[in-house]
Amino acid sequence: MTVTTRDNRPCPRDRTPLKSHRHTIIGAWLCSACRGLWLPGATVEKALGHVADSKHVAVGATAAASPLACPEDGASMAALKYRGVEVDLCPQCHGVWLDRGELQHVTTGTALGGLGAVAPTAHAQGDALGAGDVLLEIIGFLAQLFIF
Ligand SMILES: [Zn+2]
Ligand SMILES: [Zn+2]
Repeated sequence: MTVTTRDNRPCPRDRTPLKSHRHTIIGAWLCSACRGLWLPGATVEKALGHVADSKHVAVGATAAASPLACPEDGASMAALKYRGVEVDLCPQCHGVWLDRGELQHVTTGTALGGLGAVAPTAHAQGDALGAGDVLLEIIGFLAQLFIF
């Protein structure tokens, strides 16, 4: 696993360049400032087996306009709310953004310790997302939200 920074993928909240975190099956981008998480459309599609589409969401999910712009293409995202959790979806590239507070709702506190530990430390560098458990929890949530 490696951590790299690309300047052309800014955090939709604070414009901080997102850092890439690679897991065996999931590529995710994390903001070191606000701890938000960006899952590119390709990642979500790979994990779910289909694209994340606001037209195919679980019963009970609501959609509203989001003030956030997609870090990939600058498109206005849609805020989807499901089971008290809000995620932002890009209608163009189908990427998904989760604020740290929303991550906390999706995951149970313990796993989040790993996600929050983005500061490069000797053992944690490149492994800030733990063994992928946090990401798997998030994907599990998205799989309930985006139905095919
Ligand atoms: Zn941020
Ligand atoms: Zn996009």
